[in-house]
Order: sequence, then structure tokens, then C-alpha cells
Amino acid sequence: MSTDDASTADGTGANGGKTTDERSVDEPLVRVDDLHKYFWENDSVFDRLLGGEPVAVRAVDGVSFDVHRGETLGLVGESGCGKSTTGETLLRLQEATDGRVEFEGRDVYDLGGDELNEFRREAQVVFQDPFSSLDPRMTVGEIVRQPLDVHDVDTDAERRKRVRDLLERVGLSADQLDRYPHEFSGGQRQRIGIARALALEPEFLVLDEPTSALDVSVQAQVLNLLEDLQTEFDLTYLLISHDLSVIRHICDRVAVMYLGEIVEIGPVETIFEEPKHPYTEALLESVPRATTAERDRDRETISGDVPSPRDPPSGCRFRTRCPMVIPPDDLAIDQDEYRAIVNLRERIERRDVSLESLGEDDFDAGETRAFVTELKGRLLESDLSGRHEAVVDEALAHLASADWDAAAERLASTYESVCERRNPELGDGHHPVACHLYDDPESTSGTDERGDQAGPN
Ligand code: SF4
Repeated sequence: MSTDDASTADGTGANGGKTTDERSVDEPLVRVDDLHKYFWENDSVFDRLLGGEPVAVRAVDGVSFDVHRGETLGLVGESGCGKSTTGETLLRLQEATDGRVEFEGRDVYDLGGDELNEFRREAQVVFQDPFSSLDPRMTVGEIVRQPLDVHDVDTDAERRKRVRDLLERVGLSADQLDRYPHEFSGGQRQRIGIARALALEPEFLVLDEPTSALDVSVQAQVLNLLEDLQTEFDLTYLLISHDLSVIRHICDRVAVMYLGEIVEIGPVETIFEEPKHPYTEALLESVPRATTAERDRDRETISGDVPSPRDPPSGCRFRTRCPMVIPPDDLAIDQDEYRAIVNLRERIERRDVSLESLGEDDFDAGETRAFVTELKGRLLESDLSGRHEAVVDEALAHLASADWDAAAERLASTYESVCERRNPELGDGHHPVACHLYDDPESTSGTDERGDQAGPN
């Protein structure tokens, strides 16, 4: 629902024609609070016998958001950012490591017995891949009817009628009840998946990349169907997608995820027209545009790889790729030069520089200068200005004696950024963003991750 007034300031979805009760105004349908989902590696008995330490893969690392009745909240980010795991964990398809999820004010992780069954009826999922999410041995009628059988809903005749009605409603024919999934196209199979998700008359659907496996022409039809169904059945959606055009087409608000965290959230038009977080800007920048003039613009892609969720960067997780990483206050340096030095420092910290063929340990002064010059030429694409070149030379000289720590420390002492010391908080309000560029200057007295008192940015 990407209308101009799609969202109100408090984040409530528009859908103005829907009736809402008192609670819908005051209380979100879904409230996610500090949700964590870690997967563990090296955690078997065998690993422990061999002395291995368990390693946490931080798929979801402290995510909080609300989903209001009747709205569509988009969850967007690159592949592997944790958005699908967030959806599965809030539905209890996976157990959370920590945090809380409320559905209609009830703690989802405390539910059991009948209450859990009721939650499972009210909160459903449509999966990404219509080819693998349908059992090939079941007919379409059996697939759509299965949730009704499992939850023992209605009489046999009523179930049959409901399945026929659902198939018709999602644009298929009731005459196709006895066919098998392989007899349908991708778009038709996704319609079957949607009919199955609607069988128990849910209030809330997690749509996990519902159109990404479909042809572009079919994508729009399925999105339009989802919009129509939302209006007809008063549904609330959490739409997970890496595709910004899908998000813009259907969502009221959008939350942007990076490496297990939400970095920005707000009304969809605000995010698209006035993005704040450098990652959101980069994501939007990478979207192909329709007009010729826009297509010809220089598109900036996000540099570097997404870091591993096993060992995410300290401070802001986007800092290893951010084109706006913040230099120390007292440092006069342009962003390109700063980024080049930051990248060099990261390589040295990872010991990701080959020193082979550069000489022996026992250099004299002249050989050290030659070593530094050669290394600099290899590691930096452009020349540095005076003061910065001197600092980098000092650092690289330590590598002549393979003293990696001293080289890294020399660079850290001059170039350490607030972005690596402190994790920016998302905050709340109409359009919160987790980035130190938007820190309130009055509130910079927090504690660094390493325990130091934070100074002003
Ligand atoms: S906190 Fe720093 S590194 Fe992170 S997005 Fe903002 S400017 Fe970039």
C-alpha cells in the first residue's frame, strides 16, 4: 500500500477503510523486543572432546520493532542479514536465543497447549519457494485442507467448501482440487501457498520473499492479490524481501537490516525519499532506475563483503563498508583517504598482507624505505597527503620486522573512529536510525564497547 499517507506519525498503517478496535490504536498486533537468534557451531560433544570452543553465529542480534494491525511492515536487507530468521523466530518456527515476542499482548514464548495452537492459527507464513514448499505427493485440495484437518476445524463438508472457496479467491479454479503441484506454474503454486496460509483465517502473515522465485510479470499479480486479500480479510503483514521495488509497492513502513541488526526504520516513502543510514542509501543507490537519465547515472555499489556473523565488527557493523565512516574529531582528512587508511588498517589487523618476496628481517634504513614504498604501492591505490603518508610509512615500517601489532597500533592511535568504538543505538520515534552521524550531541557520554568513556563525535 504505497500511498502517500500510508503511515501515520506513530507508525500505524493507513488502511483507512478498516474497522479497528480500541486496542488496535494503543497496542501493536506484534511486538518484537530485543530478539536474538544465535546458531552454534563446534558445539557437539565430539567438538568439546577435541577441545573446540562453541562459536555463535549471530543471525539475529537484538532486533526490536512493532507491527500494527492492518499494516504491512517490510523487512529488507541483503541475503544473509537475518531477516528470514527473524520471521521464523517470531513465529516460533525456531526457538529464540533471547528476547521477547508479543502477539496481541501475549508472550509468544510462554504459550503452550491451546494458546499455542491458537497462535499457530492466527499467525501463518507464506514461504519463498513455491516449488519446494508444497508436498509434490499431495493434491492441491489436500494441501490447502491440511491445516483445517490438523486443527480439526469445521465439519468435513465445511472444510471441502472452504478449500474450494479459497482456491477461487486466490485466482485458481475449484475444479483444480485434484491436481498436483507440478501441474501448475510458479505463480499458481504461490497462489496455492497463499490459500493454504489463509485456510485458518489468520490475522497475521509473514510473507518470506513471496515473489522472488517468480517471473517479473507474475510478481505484480501476486503482490496485487496479497494487497486485495489484506483489505478483504483485515490482514497484517510482515513482508521479508531483498527487493526494494517489492517493498515500495506494498509496504506501509520498512525496517532495514544489516548483519543481524535493524539500522533504520520508518514510513516507506520517507525511507525511499529521505534515507538516513549510509547502508540504506547504498541499497537504494544500487536499485536500477526506470528513466534513461536515471539509468545513466553513476551507481555507487557497496564496497567490500558482508562480514561474518560469527565475528561481526565492533561498534557499527557497517563500518567496514561505510562510505561515510567518521574520522576522529581532530583529524583533517577527506573520506576517500580515510577509507583507504581504514581498509589498510583492517588488512593489517587481519594479517592479510603478503610480506613474502619483500625482503629479509634485518633491513637497514634504506632497505626499510624501499620495503615501505613497495608495500604502499601494492596496498594503496592512490597517493596520500603529507601527514597521513608519514603515519602510514611509520606503520608499514613495523611490518619490515613483521611486527603486525605495532603496525596496527600505530594506525589505530591516529585513525580510530567512534564508529568502531561504539555501537550506535536505533532509538525510537517516527524515523529512527542507528548511525553516529545522527547522534544527539548532548548524549555522547555513553560507554564505549571497550569500556572507555565516549567523547563527543
Ligand atoms: S555509525 Fe559510522 S560506520 Fe556506521 S553507518 Fe554511521 S557513519 Fe557509517
